[in-house]
Amino acid sequence: MNEEDKNKIKAYSKQTPLYLSRRKFDSEGLLTEVKCPGCKSFKSVKDYAKNKVQIDGIEIKCKLCKAKK
Ligand SMILES: [Zn+2]
Repeated sequence: MNEEDKNKIKAYSKQTPLYLSRRKFDSEGLLTEVKCPGCKSFKSVKDYAKNKVQIDGIEIKCKLCKAKK
């Protein structure tokens, strides 16, 4: 994740408390885990496929939930 992406996420987080509640960050502010609305649990960003349309650059649902559909 580059600097520009980090700033984008920080700006977005301020506007959207829900966004933060669905995410976990490490001490450096890097996104580490995202809550999947499908299985309702926190998963590593590695468990999500990439999607440039989304704010994080990853899919909303994890790979497993995407595959079920
Ligand atoms: Zn899921």
